Amino acid sequence: MLLHGTGVGRGIAVGPVLRMPAPLSEPEDVPRTVDADTEYSRALAALGAVGHDLTDRARRAGGEAEGVILTQSMMTQDPALLDDVRSRIDAGSTAERAVFEAFSGVRQMLLALGGSPADRAVDVEDVGQRVVAQLRGLQPPGVPEVDHPFVLIAGDLGPADAAALDIGQVLGLITVGGGPTSHTAILARSKGIVAVVGVTDATGIDEGTTVLLDAGEGSVTVEPSVEDVTAARERLVARRVAVPIGPGTLADGTRIPLLANIGSAAEAKAALTLGAEGIGLFRTELVFLGARSAPTVAEQQDEYRRLFTACRGKRVVVRTFDAGSDKPLSFLATDPEENPALGLRGIRATRAHEGVLRDQLAAIAAADAETDAEVWVMAPMVADADEAGYFVSLARELGIQVAGVMAEVPSCALMAGQVLGIADFVSIGTNDLTQYTLAADRQLGSVASYADPWHPAVLRLIKMIGDAGEQSGRPVGVCGEAAADPMLAVVLVGLGATSLSMAPTAFEAVRTELRQHTLEHARALAVQALSASTAAEARALVRE
Ligand code: PEP
Ligand code: MG
Repeated sequence: MLLHGTGVGRGIAVGPVLRMPAPLSEPEDVPRTVDADTEYSRALAALGAVGHDLTDRARRAGGEAEGVILTQSMMTQDPALLDDVRSRIDAGSTAERAVFEAFSGVRQMLLALGGSPADRAVDVEDVGQRVVAQLRGLQPPGVPEVDHPFVLIAGDLGPADAAALDIGQVLGLITVGGGPTSHTAILARSKGIVAVVGVTDATGIDEGTTVLLDAGEGSVTVEPSVEDVTAARERLVARRVAVPIGPGTLADGTRIPLLANIGSAAEAKAALTLGAEGIGLFRTELVFLGARSAPTVAEQQDEYRRLFTACRGKRVVVRTFDAGSDKPLSFLATDPEENPALGLRGIRATRAHEGVLRDQLAAIAAADAETDAEVWVMAPMVADADEAGYFVSLARELGIQVAGVMAEVPSCALMAGQVLGIADFVSIGTNDLTQYTLAADRQLGSVASYADPWHPAVLRLIKMIGDAGEQSGRPVGVCGEAAADPMLAVVLVGLGATSLSMAPTAFEAVRTELRQHTLEHARALAVQALSASTAAEARALVRE
Protein backbone atom coordinates (compact mmCIF):
# COMPACT_ATOMS: atom_id res chain seq x y z
CA MET A 1 0.00 0.00 0.00
CA LEU A 2 1.35 3.44 -0.93
CA LEU A 3 0.31 6.57 1.02
CA HIS A 4 1.19 10.19 0.28
CA GLY A 5 2.02 13.29 2.29
CA THR A 6 4.63 16.05 2.31
CA GLY A 7 8.22 14.95 2.74
CA VAL A 8 10.65 16.81 5.01
CA GLY A 9 14.19 16.56 3.64
CA ARG A 10 15.22 13.96 1.10
CA GLY A 11 16.13 10.90 3.14
CA ILE A 12 14.59 7.45 3.44
CA ALA A 13 13.82 5.36 6.52
CA VAL A 14 12.60 1.80 7.06
CA GLY A 15 11.33 0.35 10.32
CA PRO A 16 8.46 -0.88 12.45
CA VAL A 17 5.73 1.56 13.34
CA LEU A 18 5.05 2.79 16.85
CA ARG A 19 2.03 4.95 17.53
CA MET A 20 1.87 7.98 19.73
CA PRO A 21 -0.72 7.28 22.47
CA ALA A 22 -4.11 8.89 21.97
CA PRO A 23 -4.47 12.33 23.51
CA LEU A 24 -6.10 12.66 26.91
CA SER A 25 -9.86 12.40 26.98
CA GLU A 26 -11.80 15.65 27.06
CA PRO A 27 -12.58 16.78 30.65
CA GLU A 28 -16.28 16.39 31.43
CA ASP A 29 -18.41 19.52 31.55
CA VAL A 30 -19.66 19.07 35.14
CA PRO A 31 -20.13 21.75 37.83
CA ARG A 32 -17.19 22.26 40.16
CA THR A 33 -17.63 21.13 43.76
CA VAL A 34 -15.11 23.46 45.43
CA ASP A 35 -15.10 27.26 45.65
CA ALA A 36 -13.84 29.34 42.72
CA ASP A 37 -10.68 30.68 44.43
CA THR A 38 -9.46 27.20 45.42
CA GLU A 39 -10.17 25.87 41.93
CA TYR A 40 -8.39 28.80 40.27
CA SER A 41 -5.34 28.30 42.56
CA ARG A 42 -5.25 24.67 41.40
CA ALA A 43 -5.32 25.81 37.77
CA LEU A 44 -2.56 28.38 38.38
CA ALA A 45 -0.36 25.79 40.12
CA ALA A 46 -0.75 23.38 37.18
CA LEU A 47 -0.05 26.10 34.61
CA GLY A 48 3.03 27.14 36.59
CA ALA A 49 4.35 23.58 36.83
CA VAL A 50 3.89 22.98 33.09
CA GLY A 51 5.53 26.34 32.34
CA HIS A 52 8.58 25.33 34.42
CA ASP A 53 8.76 21.90 32.82
CA LEU A 54 8.62 23.41 29.32
CA THR A 55 11.34 25.95 30.17
CA ASP A 56 13.57 23.08 31.36
CA ARG A 57 12.86 21.12 28.18
CA ALA A 58 13.63 24.20 26.09
CA ARG A 59 17.06 24.63 27.72
CA ARG A 60 17.85 20.94 27.28
CA ALA A 61 16.73 20.94 23.66
CA GLY A 62 18.77 24.05 22.72
CA GLY A 63 19.11 25.17 19.09
CA GLU A 64 16.06 26.04 17.06
CA ALA A 65 13.80 24.07 19.40
CA GLU A 66 14.61 26.26 22.39
CA GLY A 67 12.75 29.33 21.14
CA VAL A 68 9.73 27.29 20.04
CA ILE A 69 9.32 25.56 23.39
CA LEU A 70 9.95 28.78 25.35
CA THR A 71 7.07 30.34 23.41
CA GLN A 72 4.92 27.42 24.56
CA SER A 73 6.09 27.94 28.12
CA MET A 74 5.06 31.60 27.94
CA MET A 75 1.53 30.59 26.87
CA THR A 76 1.00 29.22 30.38
CA GLN A 77 1.36 32.77 31.77
CA ASP A 78 -0.53 34.60 29.02
CA PRO A 79 -2.76 37.19 30.81
CA ALA A 80 -5.67 36.83 28.33
CA LEU A 81 -5.61 33.05 28.73
CA LEU A 82 -5.45 33.29 32.55
CA ASP A 83 -8.43 35.72 32.51
CA ASP A 84 -10.36 33.28 30.34
CA VAL A 85 -9.63 30.37 32.71
CA ARG A 86 -10.65 32.52 35.71
CA SER A 87 -13.96 33.60 34.18
CA ARG A 88 -14.82 30.02 33.15
CA ILE A 89 -14.14 28.85 36.72
CA ASP A 90 -16.20 31.76 38.09
CA ALA A 91 -19.03 30.64 35.80
CA GLY A 92 -18.97 27.18 37.46
CA SER A 93 -16.42 25.07 35.49
CA THR A 94 -13.84 22.75 37.00
CA ALA A 95 -10.18 23.77 36.52
CA GLU A 96 -9.71 20.90 34.01
CA ARG A 97 -12.69 21.98 31.90
CA ALA A 98 -11.78 25.70 32.10
CA VAL A 99 -8.20 25.03 30.96
CA PHE A 100 -9.38 22.70 28.21
CA GLU A 101 -11.89 25.25 26.87
CA ALA A 102 -9.50 28.22 27.13
CA PHE A 103 -6.77 26.43 25.13
CA SER A 104 -9.33 25.04 22.66
CA GLY A 105 -10.55 28.60 22.06
CA VAL A 106 -7.04 29.78 21.10
CA ARG A 107 -6.52 26.70 18.96
CA GLN A 108 -9.81 27.24 17.07
CA MET A 109 -8.90 30.87 16.46
CA LEU A 110 -5.52 29.88 14.94
CA LEU A 111 -7.13 27.20 12.78
CA ALA A 112 -9.67 29.72 11.52
CA LEU A 113 -6.84 32.03 10.44
CA GLY A 114 -5.38 29.25 8.24
CA GLY A 115 -1.86 29.33 6.72
CA SER A 116 1.12 29.57 9.07
CA PRO A 117 -0.93 30.49 12.20
CA ALA A 118 -2.91 27.26 11.73
CA ASP A 119 0.35 25.30 11.81
CA ARG A 120 0.88 26.67 15.35
CA ALA A 121 -2.46 25.25 16.58
CA VAL A 122 -0.77 22.00 17.59
CA ASP A 123 1.64 23.93 19.86
CA VAL A 124 -1.31 25.39 21.76
CA GLU A 125 -3.14 22.08 21.98
CA ASP A 126 0.01 20.43 23.32
CA VAL A 127 0.30 22.94 26.19
CA GLY A 128 -3.40 22.55 27.04
CA GLN A 129 -3.03 18.74 27.17
CA ARG A 130 -0.03 19.05 29.45
CA VAL A 131 -1.90 21.30 31.88
CA VAL A 132 -4.93 18.96 31.96
CA ALA A 133 -2.59 15.98 32.58
CA GLN A 134 -0.94 17.93 35.41
CA LEU A 135 -4.34 18.67 36.98
CA ARG A 136 -5.24 14.97 36.77
CA GLY A 137 -1.89 13.91 38.25
CA LEU A 138 -0.94 12.04 35.06
CA GLN A 139 2.30 11.98 33.04
CA PRO A 140 2.20 14.47 30.17
CA PRO A 141 1.27 12.79 26.90
CA GLY A 142 4.42 12.09 24.90
CA VAL A 143 6.60 9.81 22.82
CA PRO A 144 6.46 6.25 24.22
CA GLU A 145 9.66 4.74 25.58
CA VAL A 146 10.72 1.44 24.01
CA ASP A 147 14.09 -0.27 23.60
CA HIS A 148 14.20 -0.61 19.81
CA PRO A 149 14.35 1.84 16.90
CA PHE A 150 10.99 2.71 15.35
CA VAL A 151 9.09 4.90 12.92
CA LEU A 152 6.76 7.09 14.93
CA ILE A 153 3.20 7.79 13.76
CA ALA A 154 1.44 10.68 15.44
CA GLY A 155 -1.64 12.79 14.78
CA ASP A 156 0.80 15.66 15.04
CA LEU A 157 3.61 16.31 17.49
CA GLY A 158 3.89 19.26 19.81
CA PRO A 159 7.28 21.00 19.62
CA ALA A 160 8.27 19.73 23.08
CA ASP A 161 7.75 16.13 21.92
CA ALA A 162 9.36 16.73 18.53
CA ALA A 163 12.40 18.31 20.21
CA ALA A 164 12.69 15.44 22.66
CA LEU A 165 12.77 12.79 19.91
CA ASP A 166 15.84 10.64 20.37
CA ILE A 167 17.32 10.57 16.89
CA GLY A 168 19.29 7.45 17.80
CA GLN A 169 15.91 5.69 18.18
CA VAL A 170 13.42 7.42 15.92
CA LEU A 171 14.15 6.18 12.41
CA GLY A 172 11.46 8.34 10.88
CA LEU A 173 8.29 10.25 11.59
CA ILE A 174 4.85 10.15 9.98
CA THR A 175 2.20 12.64 11.01
CA VAL A 176 -1.44 12.53 10.03
CA GLY A 177 -1.86 16.30 10.42
CA GLY A 178 0.61 19.15 10.09
CA GLY A 179 1.92 20.98 7.07
CA PRO A 180 5.38 21.68 5.72
CA THR A 181 5.72 24.78 7.92
CA SER A 182 4.51 23.12 11.14
CA HIS A 183 6.98 22.99 13.99
CA THR A 184 7.04 19.24 13.66
CA ALA A 185 8.41 19.68 10.15
CA ILE A 186 10.84 22.44 11.17
CA LEU A 187 12.19 20.46 14.11
CA ALA A 188 12.37 17.21 12.15
CA ARG A 189 14.46 19.01 9.53
CA SER A 190 16.74 20.60 12.12
CA LYS A 191 17.26 17.22 13.80
CA GLY A 192 17.79 15.46 10.50
CA ILE A 193 14.82 13.10 11.06
CA VAL A 194 13.28 11.67 7.91
CA ALA A 195 9.64 12.73 8.02
CA VAL A 196 6.51 12.66 5.91
CA VAL A 197 3.80 14.96 7.31
CA GLY A 198 0.11 15.30 6.51
CA VAL A 199 -0.34 11.59 5.64
CA THR A 200 -4.10 11.58 6.21
CA ASP A 201 -4.46 7.81 5.61
CA ALA A 202 -1.76 6.85 8.13
CA THR A 203 -4.33 6.27 10.90
CA GLY A 204 -5.01 2.77 9.50
CA ILE A 205 -1.42 1.49 9.86
CA ASP A 206 -1.16 -1.11 12.64
CA GLU A 207 1.52 -0.88 15.31
CA GLY A 208 4.54 -3.07 14.48
CA THR A 209 3.93 -2.93 10.70
CA THR A 210 7.10 -2.19 8.69
CA VAL A 211 6.94 0.98 6.63
CA LEU A 212 9.30 2.64 4.15
CA LEU A 213 9.40 6.46 4.21
CA ASP A 214 10.78 8.35 1.25
CA ALA A 215 10.84 12.03 2.19
CA GLY A 216 12.07 12.99 -1.29
CA GLU A 217 8.89 11.50 -2.78
CA GLY A 218 6.64 12.35 0.17
CA SER A 219 5.55 8.71 0.26
CA VAL A 220 4.98 5.96 2.83
CA THR A 221 5.00 2.34 1.62
CA VAL A 222 3.28 -0.03 4.03
CA GLU A 223 4.97 -3.48 4.23
CA PRO A 224 7.49 -2.73 1.48
CA SER A 225 9.09 -5.54 -0.51
CA VAL A 226 12.89 -5.96 -0.71
CA GLU A 227 12.66 -4.48 -4.22
CA ASP A 228 10.80 -1.41 -2.86
CA VAL A 229 13.60 -0.77 -0.33
CA THR A 230 16.34 -1.29 -2.93
CA ALA A 231 14.62 1.09 -5.34
CA ALA A 232 14.29 3.74 -2.58
CA ARG A 233 18.00 3.38 -1.73
CA GLU A 234 18.85 3.88 -5.41
CA ARG A 235 16.68 7.00 -5.54
CA LEU A 236 18.52 8.29 -2.46
CA VAL A 237 21.93 7.77 -4.06
CA ALA A 238 20.75 9.47 -7.26
CA ARG A 239 19.54 12.46 -5.21
CA ARG A 240 22.93 12.97 -3.64
CA VAL A 241 24.24 14.96 -6.52
CA ALA A 242 27.58 16.41 -5.57
CA VAL A 243 27.32 19.72 -3.76
CA PRO A 244 29.05 22.31 -5.97
CA ILE A 245 32.29 23.96 -4.84
CA GLY A 246 31.63 26.16 -1.84
CA PRO A 247 32.26 26.33 1.90
CA GLY A 248 32.00 23.16 4.00
CA THR A 249 28.56 23.41 5.61
CA LEU A 250 26.30 21.08 7.57
CA ALA A 251 22.58 20.74 6.78
CA ASP A 252 21.78 23.24 9.56
CA GLY A 253 24.21 25.84 8.22
CA THR A 254 27.05 25.13 10.69
CA ARG A 255 30.30 25.97 8.93
CA ILE A 256 33.07 23.35 8.88
CA PRO A 257 35.92 24.82 6.80
CA LEU A 258 37.43 22.34 4.35
CA LEU A 259 41.19 22.86 4.19
CA ALA A 260 43.90 21.21 2.11
CA ASN A 261 46.86 19.03 3.04
CA ILE A 262 49.81 19.98 0.83
CA GLY A 263 53.52 19.21 0.57
CA SER A 264 54.73 22.26 -1.35
CA ALA A 265 53.71 25.84 -2.17
CA ALA A 266 53.15 24.73 -5.78
CA GLU A 267 50.23 22.49 -4.74
CA ALA A 268 48.25 25.38 -3.26
CA LYS A 269 46.81 26.65 -6.54
CA ALA A 270 45.24 23.31 -7.50
CA ALA A 271 43.87 22.95 -3.97
CA LEU A 272 42.23 26.37 -4.13
CA THR A 273 40.73 25.56 -7.53
CA LEU A 274 39.10 22.49 -6.02
CA GLY A 275 37.56 24.66 -3.31
CA ALA A 276 40.09 24.65 -0.46
CA GLU A 277 39.06 27.28 2.06
CA GLY A 278 42.67 27.42 3.19
CA ILE A 279 45.56 25.10 3.95
CA GLY A 280 45.13 22.93 7.03
CA LEU A 281 48.47 21.11 6.87
CA PHE A 282 51.60 22.18 5.05
CA ARG A 283 54.08 19.33 5.52
CA THR A 284 57.20 21.47 5.33
CA GLU A 285 59.59 18.52 5.73
CA LEU A 286 58.51 17.25 2.31
CA VAL A 287 59.96 20.38 0.63
CA PHE A 288 63.40 19.72 2.07
CA LEU A 289 63.51 15.91 2.12
CA GLY A 290 66.56 15.80 -0.18
CA ALA A 291 68.49 18.64 1.49
CA ARG A 292 71.86 17.68 2.94
CA SER A 293 72.11 20.70 5.14
CA ALA A 294 69.43 22.73 6.87
CA PRO A 295 67.75 25.22 4.52
CA THR A 296 68.59 28.84 5.23
CA VAL A 297 66.04 31.33 6.53
CA ALA A 298 66.02 33.03 3.11
CA GLU A 299 65.44 29.74 1.21
CA GLN A 300 62.57 28.84 3.47
CA GLN A 301 61.13 32.35 3.43
CA ASP A 302 60.88 32.12 -0.40
CA GLU A 303 58.84 28.94 -0.23
CA TYR A 304 56.56 30.21 2.52
CA ARG A 305 56.08 33.58 0.78
CA ARG A 306 54.97 31.79 -2.41
CA LEU A 307 52.40 29.83 -0.43
CA PHE A 308 51.08 32.75 1.62
CA THR A 309 50.79 34.92 -1.48
CA ALA A 310 48.71 32.25 -3.22
CA CYS A 311 46.48 31.99 -0.14
CA ARG A 312 45.79 35.69 0.41
CA GLY A 313 43.15 36.21 3.12
CA LYS A 314 42.94 32.48 3.86
CA ARG A 315 44.10 30.37 6.78
CA VAL A 316 47.41 28.56 6.22
CA VAL A 317 48.52 26.10 8.89
CA VAL A 318 52.25 25.44 8.60
CA ARG A 319 53.66 22.44 10.38
CA THR A 320 57.24 22.69 11.55
CA PHE A 321 59.57 19.93 10.29
CA ASP A 322 58.26 16.47 11.17
CA ALA A 323 61.50 14.56 10.81
CA GLY A 324 62.22 11.01 11.86
CA SER A 325 60.75 7.57 11.28
CA ASP A 326 59.28 7.45 7.75
CA LYS A 327 60.51 10.97 6.87
CA PRO A 328 64.26 11.18 7.62
CA LEU A 329 65.87 14.59 7.14
CA SER A 330 69.64 14.41 7.04
CA PHE A 331 70.00 17.79 8.75
CA LEU A 332 67.90 16.52 11.68
CA ALA A 333 69.49 13.07 11.80
CA THR A 334 69.55 11.07 14.99
CA ASP A 335 71.69 8.14 16.11
CA PRO A 336 70.36 4.85 14.70
CA GLU A 337 67.17 3.86 16.50
CA GLU A 338 65.65 0.40 17.01
CA ASN A 339 62.06 1.77 16.84
CA PRO A 340 62.25 5.09 15.01
CA ALA A 341 58.49 5.75 15.24
CA LEU A 342 59.00 5.79 19.01
CA GLY A 343 62.23 7.72 18.76
CA LEU A 344 63.45 11.25 18.37
CA ARG A 345 60.90 12.45 15.82
CA GLY A 346 58.68 15.49 15.32
CA ILE A 347 59.07 18.18 17.96
CA ARG A 348 61.56 15.93 19.80
CA ALA A 349 63.98 16.09 16.87
CA THR A 350 63.65 19.84 16.29
CA ARG A 351 63.93 20.52 20.03
CA ALA A 352 67.21 18.60 19.97
CA HIS A 353 68.32 20.87 17.08
CA GLU A 354 66.76 24.08 18.32
CA GLY A 355 68.73 26.24 15.89
CA VAL A 356 66.89 24.59 12.96
CA LEU A 357 63.52 25.17 14.63
CA ARG A 358 64.36 28.81 15.40
CA ASP A 359 65.35 29.40 11.77
CA GLN A 360 62.14 27.82 10.51
CA LEU A 361 59.93 29.87 12.82
CA ALA A 362 61.82 33.05 11.90
CA ALA A 363 61.38 32.29 8.17
CA ILE A 364 57.64 31.70 8.60
CA ALA A 365 57.24 34.91 10.63
CA ALA A 366 59.18 36.92 8.05
CA ALA A 367 57.09 35.57 5.15
CA ASP A 368 53.93 36.22 7.16
CA ALA A 369 54.94 39.85 7.67
CA GLU A 370 55.35 40.28 3.89
CA THR A 371 52.00 38.77 2.90
CA ASP A 372 48.28 38.69 3.75
CA ALA A 373 47.46 35.09 4.61
CA GLU A 374 46.21 34.14 8.08
CA VAL A 375 49.24 32.16 9.22
CA TRP A 376 48.99 29.55 11.95
CA VAL A 377 51.96 27.38 12.95
CA MET A 378 51.94 24.01 14.69
CA ALA A 379 54.45 21.47 15.94
CA PRO A 380 54.08 17.73 15.24
CA MET A 381 54.14 14.90 17.81
CA VAL A 382 53.61 17.08 20.87
CA ALA A 383 53.15 14.81 23.91
CA ASP A 384 51.85 17.06 26.66
CA ALA A 385 51.31 20.58 27.98
CA ASP A 386 54.98 20.98 28.91
CA GLU A 387 56.07 20.32 25.33
CA ALA A 388 53.23 22.53 24.04
CA GLY A 389 54.47 25.29 26.37
CA TYR A 390 58.02 24.97 25.03
CA PHE A 391 56.83 25.28 21.43
CA VAL A 392 54.29 28.05 21.94
CA SER A 393 56.69 30.30 23.83
CA LEU A 394 59.48 29.76 21.29
CA ALA A 395 57.05 30.49 18.43
CA ARG A 396 55.87 33.70 20.12
CA GLU A 397 59.47 34.76 20.77
CA LEU A 398 60.13 34.45 17.04
CA GLY A 399 57.09 36.48 16.00
CA ILE A 400 54.47 33.80 15.29
CA GLN A 401 50.95 35.09 16.09
CA VAL A 402 48.98 31.83 16.25
CA ALA A 403 50.81 28.79 17.64
CA GLY A 404 49.26 25.37 18.10
CA VAL A 405 50.13 21.71 18.29
CA MET A 406 49.28 18.47 16.54
CA ALA A 407 47.62 15.80 18.64
CA GLU A 408 49.09 12.56 17.33
CA VAL A 409 50.37 10.96 20.49
CA PRO A 410 47.70 9.52 22.80
CA SER A 411 49.20 11.35 25.80
CA CYS A 412 48.39 14.65 24.09
CA ALA A 413 44.73 13.63 23.79
CA LEU A 414 44.63 12.44 27.40
CA MET A 415 46.04 15.80 28.52
CA ALA A 416 44.04 17.85 26.01
CA GLY A 417 42.52 20.17 28.63
CA GLN A 418 45.98 21.29 29.77
CA VAL A 419 47.36 21.41 26.23
CA LEU A 420 44.53 23.67 25.08
CA GLY A 421 45.19 25.91 28.06
CA ILE A 422 48.47 26.77 26.32
CA ALA A 423 48.15 26.13 22.58
CA ASP A 424 45.99 28.44 20.44
CA PHE A 425 44.60 25.43 18.59
CA VAL A 426 44.99 21.70 18.13
CA SER A 427 45.06 19.76 14.88
CA ILE A 428 44.51 16.03 15.22
CA GLY A 429 46.81 13.85 13.15
CA THR A 430 44.70 10.71 13.00
CA ASN A 431 47.33 8.74 11.05
CA ASP A 432 49.83 8.77 13.89
CA LEU A 433 47.17 8.90 16.62
CA THR A 434 45.81 5.60 15.26
CA GLN A 435 49.30 4.09 14.92
CA TYR A 436 50.17 4.88 18.52
CA THR A 437 46.77 4.06 20.03
CA LEU A 438 46.62 0.62 18.43
CA ALA A 439 50.42 0.08 18.60
CA ALA A 440 50.36 -0.75 14.88
CA ASP A 441 53.21 0.54 12.68
CA ARG A 442 51.54 2.53 9.89
CA GLN A 443 54.24 1.29 7.47
CA LEU A 444 53.69 -2.39 8.17
CA GLY A 445 51.24 -4.36 6.02
CA SER A 446 50.94 -7.22 8.49
CA VAL A 447 49.25 -4.94 11.08
CA ALA A 448 47.34 -2.78 8.60
CA SER A 449 44.01 -4.09 9.88
CA TYR A 450 44.75 -2.48 13.26
CA ALA A 451 45.49 0.90 11.73
CA ASP A 452 41.87 1.91 11.38
CA PRO A 453 40.85 5.38 12.63
CA TRP A 454 37.26 4.16 13.02
CA HIS A 455 38.44 2.22 16.08
CA PRO A 456 36.36 3.43 19.05
CA ALA A 457 39.58 3.78 21.11
CA VAL A 458 40.84 6.38 18.63
CA LEU A 459 37.42 8.04 18.52
CA ARG A 460 37.35 8.26 22.32
CA LEU A 461 40.68 10.09 22.32
CA ILE A 462 39.41 12.44 19.63
CA LYS A 463 36.31 13.10 21.75
CA MET A 464 38.55 14.12 24.66
CA ILE A 465 40.25 16.67 22.43
CA GLY A 466 36.91 17.85 21.02
CA ASP A 467 35.51 18.33 24.52
CA ALA A 468 38.61 20.25 25.59
CA GLY A 469 38.26 22.42 22.49
CA GLU A 470 34.65 23.20 23.31
CA GLN A 471 35.49 24.02 26.93
CA SER A 472 38.38 26.29 26.00
CA GLY A 473 36.65 27.80 22.98
CA ARG A 474 39.73 26.97 20.87
CA PRO A 475 39.65 25.38 17.42
CA VAL A 476 40.18 21.65 16.98
CA GLY A 477 40.93 20.59 13.42
CA VAL A 478 41.58 17.16 11.95
CA CYS A 479 44.29 16.81 9.32
CA GLY A 480 44.86 13.03 9.19
CA GLU A 481 43.45 10.82 6.44
CA ALA A 482 40.34 10.17 8.53
CA ALA A 483 39.02 13.60 7.51
CA ALA A 484 38.89 12.43 3.89
CA ASP A 485 36.51 9.53 4.64
CA PRO A 486 33.12 11.22 4.13
CA MET A 487 31.20 9.27 6.79
CA LEU A 488 34.05 9.45 9.29
CA ALA A 489 34.34 13.18 8.61
CA VAL A 490 30.75 13.57 9.86
CA VAL A 491 31.60 11.56 12.99
CA LEU A 492 34.70 13.72 13.58
CA VAL A 493 32.52 16.82 13.46
CA GLY A 494 30.18 15.12 15.95
CA LEU A 495 33.20 14.53 18.20
CA GLY A 496 34.08 18.23 18.15
CA ALA A 497 36.20 18.91 15.05
CA THR A 498 35.70 22.49 13.88
CA SER A 499 37.58 22.14 10.58
CA LEU A 500 38.72 19.27 8.35
CA SER A 501 41.90 19.14 6.29
CA MET A 502 42.44 16.58 3.56
CA ALA A 503 43.80 15.83 0.13
CA PRO A 504 41.88 18.21 -2.19
CA THR A 505 40.49 15.29 -4.20
CA ALA A 506 38.35 14.37 -1.19
CA PHE A 507 36.63 17.77 -0.95
CA GLU A 508 33.67 16.95 -3.17
CA ALA A 509 32.70 13.72 -1.39
CA VAL A 510 33.20 15.20 2.09
CA ARG A 511 31.40 18.45 1.22
CA THR A 512 28.46 16.47 -0.14
CA GLU A 513 28.24 14.17 2.87
CA LEU A 514 28.50 17.01 5.42
CA ARG A 515 25.56 18.72 3.73
CA GLN A 516 23.32 15.73 4.56
CA HIS A 517 23.73 16.03 8.36
CA THR A 518 22.93 18.56 11.05
CA LEU A 519 25.37 19.09 13.92
CA GLU A 520 22.92 17.33 16.19
CA HIS A 521 22.80 14.36 13.85
CA ALA A 522 26.60 14.27 13.58
CA ARG A 523 26.76 14.20 17.37
CA ALA A 524 24.26 11.34 17.51
CA LEU A 525 26.32 9.39 14.96
CA ALA A 526 29.43 10.04 17.05
CA VAL A 527 27.67 8.61 20.11
CA GLN A 528 26.82 5.50 18.08
CA ALA A 529 30.41 5.10 16.89
CA LEU A 530 31.79 5.59 20.41
CA SER A 531 29.51 2.83 21.70
CA ALA A 532 30.98 0.22 19.31
CA SER A 533 33.54 -2.40 20.31
CA THR A 534 35.50 -2.51 17.06
CA ALA A 535 36.27 -0.31 14.07
CA ALA A 536 34.08 -2.51 11.87
CA GLU A 537 31.16 -2.21 14.26
CA ALA A 538 31.53 1.59 14.51
CA ARG A 539 31.54 1.85 10.73
CA ALA A 540 28.49 -0.42 10.41
CA LEU A 541 26.50 1.41 13.10
CA VAL A 542 27.10 4.77 11.48
CA ARG A 543 26.41 3.51 7.93
CA GLU A 544 23.11 2.02 9.10
C1 PEP B 1 48.98 12.42 10.90
O1 PEP B 1 49.78 11.78 11.56
O2 PEP B 1 47.77 12.16 10.87
C2 PEP B 1 49.44 13.55 10.06
C3 PEP B 1 48.57 14.34 9.47
O3 PEP B 1 50.78 13.71 9.92
P1 PEP B 1 51.66 12.78 8.95
O4 PEP B 1 50.73 11.91 8.16
O5 PEP B 1 52.43 13.72 8.11
O6 PEP B 1 52.47 12.04 9.94
MG1 MG C 1 51.78 12.54 11.86
